[in-house]
Amino acid sequence: MQKKRILTGDRPTGKLHLGHYVGTLKNRVKLQDTYETFIIIADYHALTTKPSKEDISKFNKNIEDMVFDYLSVGMDPGKIVFYRQSSIPEVAELFLIFSMLVTVPRAQRIPTLKEIMKDLEINQPSMGLLAYPILQAADILMVKGDLVPVGKDQESHVELAREIARTFNKTYEKVFPETKALVGETPTLPGTDGKLKMSKSLNNAIYLSDSKEEVERKVKGMYTDPTRVHATDPGKVEGNPVFIYLDEFGGEENEEKIKDLKKRYKEGTVGDVEVKSCLTEVLNGFLEPIRERRKEFQKNPEIVEEILRNGKKKVRLEAQKTLSEVKEAMGLT
Ligand code: ATP
Ligand code: MG
Repeated sequence: MQKKRILTGDRPTGKLHLGHYVGTLKNRVKLQDTYETFIIIADYHALTTKPSKEDISKFNKNIEDMVFDYLSVGMDPGKIVFYRQSSIPEVAELFLIFSMLVTVPRAQRIPTLKEIMKDLEINQPSMGLLAYPILQAADILMVKGDLVPVGKDQESHVELAREIARTFNKTYEKVFPETKALVGETPTLPGTDGKLKMSKSLNNAIYLSDSKEEVERKVKGMYTDPTRVHATDPGKVEGNPVFIYLDEFGGEENEEKIKDLKKRYKEGTVGDVEVKSCLTEVLNGFLEPIRERRKEFQKNPEIVEEILRNGKKKVRLEAQKTLSEVKEAMGLT
């Protein structure tokens, strides 16, 4: 039987961080043997908020960094197809067809649109920003993705892809699977500043490629519990990003230690310094093997181009196949 398919990906707007790991990379690694996996580096999507020439000039470097991020967390290029969105022009054609199946109010109702506009102080969205979940549906359905491992913020987009698949299948003929989202165990990892989401654009991220010293510096500056002034004040553990990170990255070997820290934090018998130094250790313990693997892969930088070239070849064939099925189903021949 043919394996089910995963499609997911990231915008080439910067290096990948702990939030990506928790929200989606972890699931990608876990599922790479059971699913045929496609990873899109979504440069058209990056244009929705970063369209300037200066922004675009950074994409290539970001893409290189991201491919090393993927490899260093254990995503296997022997199993996974990685490709760059703009190398598959067919996706623009599928997007155009899908855009006829979505009303403007439906696109405006996507919750991330308002969030992005607020965060980036955009007064009027471009057509591209408004329509980008439709383009995302085209990415997913182009390779007939069954499952999309994403962070919580992307769930509503996958829901739209599912609706589009259903509408297309009903209006014409069954061509597409009804895609489903898979959100990580921690749906959204908060930022080091206590904001709801760690994000490349918000300057609140710990990167998978950060050095030991950078991790230590970032953890020292982390937001904890703002109502707690002295180490003797009882503190809040719930919603405190320091404890969220400890829970997420501590692993079994630190379970007892973290439990004890939480207890003492609530009682007001441990200072932020001790808690943070434990977190620095935990995060560096988690990141060290990732750094080691990165160093190995970086000895052959040409691997990046090779991986993306192979991906392009495979995905273009899939894309052309899907597009002809689509036109056939519509009678657009
Ligand atoms: P940008 O700020 O440029 O939008 P981003 O940090 O949000 O960048 P994306 O490339 O938009 O990163 O997201 C890639 C994937 O990682 C998506 O599936 C997204 O849901 C997930 N993701 C990003 N940040 C987090 C986070 N803090 N927690 C959980 N998942 C996340
Ligand atoms: Mg994003």
